[in-house]
Amino acid sequence: MNTAPEVHLMQVTPRLEIRNLVRHFSGRAVVDDVSLSIQAGQVTCLLGPSGCGKSTTLRIIAGVEMQDSGEIYVDGTLICDTHFRVPPERREIGLMFQDFALFPHLSVGDNVAFGLKGSKEAKRARVEELLARVDLLRFIDGFPHQLSGGEQQRVALARSLAPKPRIMLMDEPFSGLDNRLRDGIRDETLSLLKEEDTAVLLVTHEPEEAMRMADEIALMRGGKIVQQGAPYNVYTRPVDHAAVAFFSDTN
Ligand code: ADP
Ligand code: MG
Repeated sequence: MNTAPEVHLMQVTPRLEIRNLVRHFSGRAVVDDVSLSIQAGQVTCLLGPSGCGKSTTLRIIAGVEMQDSGEIYVDGTLICDTHFRVPPERREIGLMFQDFALFPHLSVGDNVAFGLKGSKEAKRARVEELLARVDLLRFIDGFPHQLSGGEQQRVALARSLAPKPRIMLMDEPFSGLDNRLRDGIRDETLSLLKEEDTAVLLVTHEPEEAMRMADEIALMRGGKIVQQGAPYNVYTRPVDHAAVAFFSDTN
């Protein structure tokens, strides 16, 4: 008797899909035919050395930089090509950067509420929910300068996630942090991201970070994605000598 479970091959529309993105600066392709797709609930790390085009790729997806060619789809709907462009503020994309500062003159709670829509009660409930999840509810009426760097980073994460973005773009979000704190914050961030229904594209130049956080790694070099797959596969079956060197370089 065949006891294998029935397999339903279902085509799931990716939350984010980019197709054949190209961007030149001074005649040089810094993003050179990049394609990727990410499902909701999945973390993909765009991993590669400094200058390989990671941030430019992220800025194009965020809508603050234009591509020369290629398309971006969210839940199967075209949001940007060379003729048509949904403005950044309507893309439902959350952003988090290394130096993505909190507003110093707003309380922690108001920082998280910034950009939220709806009734005062609904906003308050969402702010409390997120601050509780990053374990900082006690600081809701405090101010950013009263928090440590790691705590500020957790508030920034709560703020980015508050409007329930369909996509989270994170550019080296932990590189400003103390080594000592980094692993803990990576793990906390990952578990919070996993609870939210969002697709995450996280940029890093650190293999260790990608190995720790990614469901999938896209290895980038010279504007191109040279290898893509599960962390274990990318690590154990590097595509070429340069990939071996990159992974064994201890930065
Ligand atoms: P990464 O994030 O991987 O370090 P970037 O995407 O920031 O790489 O940059 C890729 C390349 O594009 C670099 O050589 C950088 O100098 C160049 N570049 C990025 N933005 C601009 C710009 N606005 N004008 C000219 N060159 C740029
Ligand atoms: Mg960068």
